[in-house]
Amino acid sequence: MTARWHRGHRRAVAVVATALSLTASTPGTVATTTAAAPHPHSVDCRTSRCVALTFDDGPTQYTNAVLDTLEHMHAVGTFFLIGPHALQYRADVLREYRDGDAIGDHTVTHPHLTVLSRARVGHETETAARQIASVTGHRPTLFRPPFGAMDAHVREAAGAAGMAVVLWNLSPQDWKHHNAAYIDRAVLARVRPGAIVVLHDRYATTPPAVPHLIAALRARGYELVTVPQMFATSGGLRAGAVYHHGPAPS
Ligand SMILES: [Zn+2]
Repeated sequence: MTARWHRGHRRAVAVVATALSLTASTPGTVATTTAAAPHPHSVDCRTSRCVALTFDDGPTQYTNAVLDTLEHMHAVGTFFLIGPHALQYRADVLREYRDGDAIGDHTVTHPHLTVLSRARVGHETETAARQIASVTGHRPTLFRPPFGAMDAHVREAAGAAGMAVVLWNLSPQDWKHHNAAYIDRAVLARVRPGAIVVLHDRYATTPPAVPHLIAALRARGYELVTVPQMFATSGGLRAGAVYHHGPAPS
């Protein structure tokens, strides 16, 4: 957990450093460079309105656009990676890691795990974890089963691999509705504090939805957090346990 917090903090430090260097060289731009809210690296989601945007199935050719938005808006996301995609798009994975985004395992072949043998489920979870670790140097501690298809064997396999099972409680079905405005409306109509939103950085229509979504969420008082940050003050995430949403102010 310490390492994750540290990574989350790094972006905030980088933002401050950028603002300071701009202040030193071009004083006239101070108002502009400090206008963006600093990244909330230590938010307590038991008392703040938190939301976690999660992105599945990447990295793909569209991931860069999401990362550009997150960086520009000093926000963070959680990415559930398909193992071979992580190997193919190593630079994007490293960018996610360095930016303080959280990275989770989303299997090797994206199957419905509940129809596979235990051995096959174990292979899907463990192999993708190793593929991701071969890029970042760190094993993921989050796992999301494709399609949300889960049973006792899936929980066991995730637990054995040291990962918590992270599902969601808000889906705008961006895999079906390829329309950024629709995606934004669908999330904003149903979002509640503690929401875990599932999106996909595999469709061209999802990245354009993210800038307005983040701005609108912040206008409603939401803090953008990673999934580990969401649970950091309420006991953290346990390997093999299942999570659909985070804590919320009572
Ligand atoms: Zn998926």
